[in-house]
Amino acid sequence: MTDSNDDDCLVSADDALVRLMDGNARFLRGERRITGATLEELADLAKGQRPFATILGCSDSRVPPELLFNAGFGDLFVIRVAGNVLSPEVAGSLQYASMHLKTQLIMVLGHEGCGAVQAVLAAKFQGAQEPSRIQLLLQNMLPGLHGIDPQLPLPQRLACAVEANVRWTMRQILDTPEGRARMAEGRMKLVGAVYDITTGRVRLLS
Ligand SMILES: [Zn+2]
Repeated sequence: MTDSNDDDCLVSADDALVRLMDGNARFLRGERRITGATLEELADLAKGQRPFATILGCSDSRVPPELLFNAGFGDLFVIRVAGNVLSPEVAGSLQYASMHLKTQLIMVLGHEGCGAVQAVLAAKFQGAQEPSRIQLLLQNMLPGLHGIDPQLPLPQRLACAVEANVRWTMRQILDTPEGRARMAEGRMKLVGAVYDITTGRVRLLS
């Protein structure tokens, strides 16, 4: 792992968010620039990385951040884990991106139809059991879903839970001394978003 120390080239959090959403707009319009890289570009990137944003997203095969944001090699620092949950290792990766790569924007990206969120709802409301390691994952997510109305029809319940799960991860990121310190500096921005796997659209949470 190498550090980026050229502060003059840092992309602000606001600019990074615009770049992400512009990329998603290109993706939606089908105006996708080629996301591969030439050998020259790879050689240049090998000297160091300078991603403009950090994405914490789900491992779901239908939610590849570089594609849905129409981003290229070296553009995004991506952490993918089922249910976009925060663990100590994930927190360490976020801190690395923030402290060493100096990305100013962190996006927590959930998605509609998330299997991990479906599983945690089934555990919460139907007492479904999963193997031990999956159970650990679900336990991590459970506290974020305490306000979900069990009377909601299943599709709406899942949509609410996906959003609540993103907010839960965001709350945990903020609820650390490092997170609070970085926010207090005023340069870092944390945003939540939900990707619609049917339309391809990324919706920012307010
Ligand atoms: Zn998922």
